[in-house]
Amino acid sequence: MIKRNKTFENKHILYFVVSPIGNLKDISLRAIEILKTADVIACEDTRNTLKLLTHFDILNKHLISLHNHNEKSVSNKIINMILEGNVVCYLSDAGYPIISDPGKILCEMAISNNISVTTIGGTNAAINALVCSNLPSEHFYFYGFLDSHQSKRKKQLESLKEMDSTIIFYEAPHRIKATILDIKEIFNDNRRCTIARELTKIHEEYIYFELNDVDNIDFDTIKGEIVLLVEGNNKQDIVSDEILINEINELLQNKKYSKKDIALQIAKKYNVSKNYIYQLILNINS
Ligand code: SAM
Repeated sequence: MIKRNKTFENKHILYFVVSPIGNLKDISLRAIEILKTADVIACEDTRNTLKLLTHFDILNKHLISLHNHNEKSVSNKIINMILEGNVVCYLSDAGYPIISDPGKILCEMAISNNISVTTIGGTNAAINALVCSNLPSEHFYFYGFLDSHQSKRKKQLESLKEMDSTIIFYEAPHRIKATILDIKEIFNDNRRCTIARELTKIHEEYIYFELNDVDNIDFDTIKGEIVLLVEGNNKQDIVSDEILINEINELLQNKKYSKKDIALQIAKKYNVSKNYIYQLILNINS
């Protein structure tokens, strides 16, 4: 089934409004405008949102709390309010709703009820952190929070070990040390990392380090809200092409292996991507 909705031609629209991640001045003009017009403002925590609204002189609004524990039942209620003709916004406590925050069920319900959804943009912790991380940014993988249980966290990290893009995690200050130690153990590789903390706030700080430096970091001073970025697996740069090509040639002489087998064997041996090796084989043969 194909469903197309021209957002602003629909008379029913749900606005996902981005709230600041620290500095209140990061709110957008569009956000203020739509919050002023809204009949109902659904939000993660009404106390936080009330502070934000008061700061911008947006007073006497009907607030409804929608958080992880009541999302399904409250979403139903909100959908009905929109269908009855109310202008409704949803905002989480910080940054983009839905990004490591509630709002996903609400969005799904809106779309299935032919309500248009739109984002009133703003600041996001992961993207702010990536920009100043000094790590490759052409491709990146946003993971969000790892599990708080070490065994599950290690399994999750195993699945990320081969990722060749920069990986972005959200982490709590009391777990940052344990998480970095697990990353060091599982990735088993001296990757570059960046801790970006308290973004947009007065104590904003970036800490650039390599996993082998971890014992020299004073974790007691790393407080507040944290984004951790880890360089992707770029082993291809460590094993030279010359070594890989020599090995490929040896295996090619032994006619019993297919190109695919060779790519697989060498990729496993040197922990590099099999597609990369396959490409080298094709280049040799061309
Ligand atoms: N929806 C938010 C977003 O768009 O960035 C993320 C919400 S998530 C519940 C909260 C986590 O985001 C924090 O634990 C922290 O890892 C990260 N975070 C939020 N604000 C931050 C800030 N000002 N500086 C650094 N990290 C922040």
